Amino acid sequence: MKRFLYVLACVFASLSVHSEIKYVFYLIGDGMGQNEILAAEMYLAELDSVIGRRPLHITGLPYTGTVATHSVSNGITDSSAAGTALATGVKTNNGTLGLSAEGDTLVSIAEQLKAQGWGVGLLTTVAIDHATPAAFYANVKNRDSYYEVGKQLVRTDFDFFGGAGLHRPVPPEGQTGPNVYDLAEENGYTLARGLKDAQLKREAKKLILMQENDAIDRRKKSSGNFPYMIDGRPEDLHLKALTPFAIDYLQQHHERFFLMIEGGMLDYAGHGRDGAADILEMLDFDQAVGAVMDFYRQHPEETLVVVTADHETGGLALGNSDYTLNLQILRHQHCSSWVLSDQINALFKKGQPRPKWQDIQAILERQLDFYGEVEISDKEDRMLKDAFKQAMKSKSQRSFRTMYKDLNKLCNILNYKAKLGWTNYGHTGAAVPVFAIGPGAEQFTGWMDNTEIAPKIMKAVEGEK
Ligand SMILES: [Zn+2]
Repeated sequence: MKRFLYVLACVFASLSVHSEIKYVFYLIGDGMGQNEILAAEMYLAELDSVIGRRPLHITGLPYTGTVATHSVSNGITDSSAAGTALATGVKTNNGTLGLSAEGDTLVSIAEQLKAQGWGVGLLTTVAIDHATPAAFYANVKNRDSYYEVGKQLVRTDFDFFGGAGLHRPVPPEGQTGPNVYDLAEENGYTLARGLKDAQLKREAKKLILMQENDAIDRRKKSSGNFPYMIDGRPEDLHLKALTPFAIDYLQQHHERFFLMIEGGMLDYAGHGRDGAADILEMLDFDQAVGAVMDFYRQHPEETLVVVTADHETGGLALGNSDYTLNLQILRHQHCSSWVLSDQINALFKKGQPRPKWQDIQAILERQLDFYGEVEISDKEDRMLKDAFKQAMKSKSQRSFRTMYKDLNKLCNILNYKAKLGWTNYGHTGAAVPVFAIGPGAEQFTGWMDNTEIAPKIMKAVEGEK
């Protein structure tokens, strides 16, 4: 009987398929709908005076499907509920990270793989305690409790974090507690500021890479994001440069590893209805996919790559009036709408003489090529001047800010001329794409729910058929 069981066990062992997967890449474009991808491809084609597409790395992945993103509480998800679904395979309420709608603690695939001895890295263009990366390690009811999220981050034992530092390393007003950067070092993390510094510290067992101005002053209450690509992000903070570093670092220390890469600034561009910024973030995210594909080609039997989005942002439509697109006009935008706002706002500083229309016009000429290569119609000119007059009527800075919103809208004339349409300033319930390559990638076809992706990845890793 014993022998029979032994033979049976041997038969089953030879029948079960053991996965060869040693490397898992999970790339998440925050706010990346179908049209964000297509707009970038058609923009590149238009720059070559062609109507059509210049395919991105993303759309070259052979298996593709469509993903519904709604949360338990809302038809339109936020990044924490979507991140939780993508990281754990369980839907939850908007605002919640790593807990089910009933409050149960969820375990992410990054945590599962870490427990099995894998190296784990999380790379983003926003703060590393922001919703999408946090969904892989944090369990909090409110995504805004950044200090708690940071404390949970340093207890993960994940090997690599890369991004714009911590959003809130210090306790909230009225509370006391240690600085999270200190806690990180106590927990064995080495802090690196910028890529060059990280390269010098690549022997460190656990590394947190952030932009240079973070963590220098630990009293700093908040770290922002990476600047937009369109505003001239420092060379070494591109996903293009950081992705190969993250891969090399994890490979140097681990035989198997999981790397999540988030294009986080894409979402901000969608919230701001900033088409030019959106496309450049899309292209940087695609460079991360390109770097991952370079690695994939060296280890095709052992690498699974999955690219998807947590939700769409802005309701981006390709077309707003007739049957034409004019995306190439966006090349005339030389800074994000945020920087444009700051420059216009600076004209209205207290103690300065009140600005003249010519001052505003000079900014529009410099940053948007208005009244030059970008023609401004009489109607548009009147709209701009009226907005300025309205702004000047207001006495206080506060009311100016309200007026300024109108001015900002008018600066979106360029988006209008590009024939882009936006339906709102927030997320939408639009389906998002998923792309995959590698062993198990064939599971990522057809319509699916965002809760299905993490289990499919684990199924591929565990080699169940
Ligand atoms: Zn968002």
